[in-house]
Amino acid sequence: MSESRSDFDKYLIPTYAPAPFIPVRGKGSTVFDQQDKDYIDFVGGIAVNALGHSHPAVKEALVSQAEKLCHMGNGYTNEPVLALAKQLVKHTFADKVFFCNSGAEANEAALKLARKFANDNFGKQKNEVISFEKSFHGRTLFTVSAGGQPKYSEDFAPLPKGIKHAPFNDLEAVAELINENTCAVIVEPIQGEGGVIPATTEFLKGLRVLCDKHNAMLIFDEIQTGVGRTGALYSYMQYGVTPDLLSTAKALGGGFPIGAILTTDKFAGAFSPGSHGTTYGGNPLASAVAGKVLSIIAEPKFLAEVGRKHDFFIQQLEAINARFSVFKSLRSAGLLIGCELTEAHQGKAKAITNIAAEEGALVLIAGPNVLRFAPALNISDEEMQRGLARLEVAIKRYLEA
Ligand code: PLP
Repeated sequence: MSESRSDFDKYLIPTYAPAPFIPVRGKGSTVFDQQDKDYIDFVGGIAVNALGHSHPAVKEALVSQAEKLCHMGNGYTNEPVLALAKQLVKHTFADKVFFCNSGAEANEAALKLARKFANDNFGKQKNEVISFEKSFHGRTLFTVSAGGQPKYSEDFAPLPKGIKHAPFNDLEAVAELINENTCAVIVEPIQGEGGVIPATTEFLKGLRVLCDKHNAMLIFDEIQTGVGRTGALYSYMQYGVTPDLLSTAKALGGGFPIGAILTTDKFAGAFSPGSHGTTYGGNPLASAVAGKVLSIIAEPKFLAEVGRKHDFFIQQLEAINARFSVFKSLRSAGLLIGCELTEAHQGKAKAITNIAAEEGALVLIAGPNVLRFAPALNISDEEMQRGLARLEVAIKRYLEA
């Protein structure tokens, strides 16, 4: 092998600080590095690899489409994108879909659509967006400005105007900010990067009422929570609150880059040919893979298993905590799980995940104080057990250090 980790520092613009080892292959929820050391993968490509690594059906969909047609551009439609749009419409509140390549691009499209709809129907002054503190919506300039973590936007000023941030789960604060000039409220039903923090049902229901009252579009960013992650196809279904627009990406392609916005006919009509687009959006290859991923995950039996695996995972995490008392709280929805560290271990999430990786368990963080797990939705019980046993060894090592 000629590539090494030090090549990263030499050849890549340093937007990331990757682990010291290089994964080279994976099967299910186990990945192997260049030295053939194995790791149990609780990261899941950051809530992307919903069916794990090298899933035979995903591979088959990719290869068979690659043999037929990879890309044409949006001057032509294609069969896989039509089939995928029909599937998404069948399974959700939506009437229409727009495809792109990533989560940020989906939210960018969502916010642009909200402004366009408001502009066309109510006038230019109706352009304000309400978002939430600690939220994360992507890295384009609009989405990083909508996000509620100034560290990601402040060095890139001037930023797009007209965005206000309210504390999450604080309906009164939103009621004070919203007015006739608000065109959209964008919210993650469960804040992922912000620390795995679920919205309360009352909060989302209240946002629905406020948006209806002020003719503002309610946008759910389900990029992390969507495609089965929480045990429903989309988490709005569990909350019983239907948005006007939903953004989805990550797990939709099971590892192949694709994003989308789903909305109703009412809002979809604000875009017309030429008003928005992207070269790769709805590319046949991405659409064929996503169609296969969605058809597997949308099965009620598959989604029910996510709930069972959640219970199993939480039981084991609670058992670890009973022995070591490092977690102040466990927050979870399906296989999106956050463990907040106690006061004594503030700021140590990264240190713990580094030791866990050495022990052969890959774990994410969500901020400095939360361990985050977003494994494949089809992770086996045996892999969960093995990975959590390795995490336990890592926590013991961390405490003894
Ligand atoms: N929105 C949410 C809730 C996310 O978790 C993410 C990524 O972590 C994004 C948007 C951005 O998605 P992407 O990185 O595909 O642009």
